[in-house]
Amino acid sequence: MQQRDRSFGIQMLSVQPDTKPKGCAGCNRKIKDRYLLKALDKFWHEDCLKCACCECRLGEVGSTLYTKANLILCRRDYLRLFGATGSCAACSKLIPAFEMVMRAKDNVYHLDCFACQLCSQRFCVGDKFFLKNNLILCQTDYEDGMMKEGYAPHVR
Ligand SMILES: [Zn+2]
Ligand SMILES: [Zn+2]
Ligand SMILES: [Zn+2]
Ligand SMILES: [Zn+2]
Repeated sequence: MQQRDRSFGIQMLSVQPDTKPKGCAGCNRKIKDRYLLKALDKFWHEDCLKCACCECRLGEVGSTLYTKANLILCRRDYLRLFGATGSCAACSKLIPAFEMVMRAKDNVYHLDCFACQLCSQRFCVGDKFFLKNNLILCQTDYEDGMMKEGYAPHVR
């Protein structure tokens, strides 16, 4: 079965005093408030429809919730967790959003892929790296390349 990423609308409804109280899908208690939320074809206390990650009240944040693998999430957390970050500029495989990445300009890299693409030197925090023709280079290789180009612009 194909799992689809989905977003759902949240409605805020006022409770008619003469109707039988609805049960909350979050805490299973009856909703006796003046307002309730309707989402995923269920009813919720305003306090009970929360993002599983940051616990923000989804009725307030906007009128959309996102679900995946039985989690109810706000848009921000959903994208953070499940929206793909992009593909790695070094190995061109897709990077899942929950994975740590390195960024350089518009490029993203797996942590493991983020190394000088000429000499494979890894970078530590604070190390300088350079981006040239979309290659990550260490300072040495970058300066080497600049030198060569300076003397013979067509040699790479
Ligand atoms: Zn509740
Ligand atoms: Zn959240
Ligand atoms: Zn990679
Ligand atoms: Zn290098």
